[in-house]
Amino acid sequence: MADCIFCKIIDGGLPSYKVYEDGKVIAFLDIFPIHSGHVLVVPKKHFVDIFDTPAEELQNIIAAAKKLAPAVMKATKADGINIGMNNRPASGQVVMHTHLHVIPRFKDDGLKTWPQRPYNNDAEKQHVLERIKAAL
Ligand code: AMP
Ligand code: ZN
Repeated sequence: MADCIFCKIIDGGLPSYKVYEDGKVIAFLDIFPIHSGHVLVVPKKHFVDIFDTPAEELQNIIAAAKKLAPAVMKATKADGINIGMNNRPASGQVVMHTHLHVIPRFKDDGLKTWPQRPYNNDAEKQHVLERIKAAL
């Protein structure tokens, strides 16, 4: 994809700090890390997000994340790892090329993920449950 920065990194047209590569996947340091060692895992073929990425390609990136997570843990002396994927701008996706974030986390790093809340009532829970099941 001509205008995709991750495609340019994959083609070598843009520099990156590559930490891993195989036939299908590349992984490099995020330039604006949440913590040092934050890695992005990217399929070499251009897909936008989880919706157009074939299951096999998603398997490839999660398999690479499985290799990378312990390496990032060890290298950064992290206490935990977040694996994340944003899909569409409403979720925070900025680069429209499928990628997983592998993010080292530390016990007292003070970061929160998302605020959570209880369901308002049983009807709300049942309603959304039925709608998701019907959509599968
Ligand atoms: P997302 O919000 O999930 O789309 O995340 C995109 C990530 O790509 C952000 O965390 C950016 O810091 C990162 N990023 C953007 N451009 C580059 C680049 N040229 N090299 C490495 N990481 C990048
Ligand atoms: Zn791309």
